[in-house]
Amino acid sequence: MAGDSSDRSRAATDAEAAFMTLSHDLRLEILLALWDAPGFTLSFAELRKAVGERDSGSFTYHLSELRDHFVAKTDEGYELQYPGHRVLDAIQSGVFHEQVTVGPVELDDDCRACGGRLTFEYGTDYVARIRCPDCGNRALEWPFDPGGIADRDDDAIVAAFDRRTRLVWSCALDGVCPFCAGRVDRELTGRVHEEGACIGVIEQLDRYDEYFARDHPAVVAVDCHRCSFYSFVPAGVVLLTRPAVTGRLHEAGVDLRATPLWNLGFVVDADAVAVRETEPTRVEVAVPDADESLAFTVAESCDVVRETTAER
Ligand SMILES: [Zn+2]
Ligand SMILES: [Zn+2]
Repeated sequence: MAGDSSDRSRAATDAEAAFMTLSHDLRLEILLALWDAPGFTLSFAELRKAVGERDSGSFTYHLSELRDHFVAKTDEGYELQYPGHRVLDAIQSGVFHEQVTVGPVELDDDCRACGGRLTFEYGTDYVARIRCPDCGNRALEWPFDPGGIADRDDDAIVAAFDRRTRLVWSCALDGVCPFCAGRVDRELTGRVHEEGACIGVIEQLDRYDEYFARDHPAVVAVDCHRCSFYSFVPAGVVLLTRPAVTGRLHEAGVDLRATPLWNLGFVVDADAVAVRETEPTRVEVAVPDADESLAFTVAESCDVVRETTAER
């Protein structure tokens, strides 16, 4: 469990104290200087020179504030610790201080709804969008960090977005938060009929109507116990990480590695997904791009329980 409210308030106070520790720009400069150093280590004199602080008392004070948690004293000097690395990693993701836009960039990929050309676009809301300007099809949308844009040309940005989204989705579907490592609840949820009958928690979920795959009969709701991560993942993504299934898809001519998520029909096509049973929920995911009639049944546990022949 994520703990009771007193645990949570203590965690919040501790986190606040840790953030306050970083609230002076000299302290961040110290972390950055150690990050640049061989072995992430500098002597006292080297570190002071690297950050250009003339006031010895001030430097000593700010360094002492970082000691033990972000920076450790070793025989060689001062060494950046894991929490210090993670602070810098978060900064390097760009989400705190960068706002970049990309595109729209026309892709080589066709819209599965109308055959037009898909585009990639990245906006100041930190969401990357694969969409079709001709028919408005929102093929795939997911948050992306500005770090994914830096030092890459357009093709590499698009490929990085595909890879990162796979990683986040498969980690979340395995019950591990891709952002804080916390426990993630997963639940198959959706609208069974056009009339609006629901399975799972869908009726209580906000933001679902904005979700790019809201027209799918079922998706997996993912909700982290520790952090703010809460979203939905297309049900077909479950097929991507089961060796027996990926082997079958390979046999059936589906190249999972070379094909981006938005070209995999079992991930993005609403009509590839069908709710076959409720209580317990069983969802069938068809593979429209296979060279044989192929489908898989996904159980409430998000496990693939059997292979079937696609009904469509
Ligand atoms: Zn289209
Ligand atoms: Zn989390």
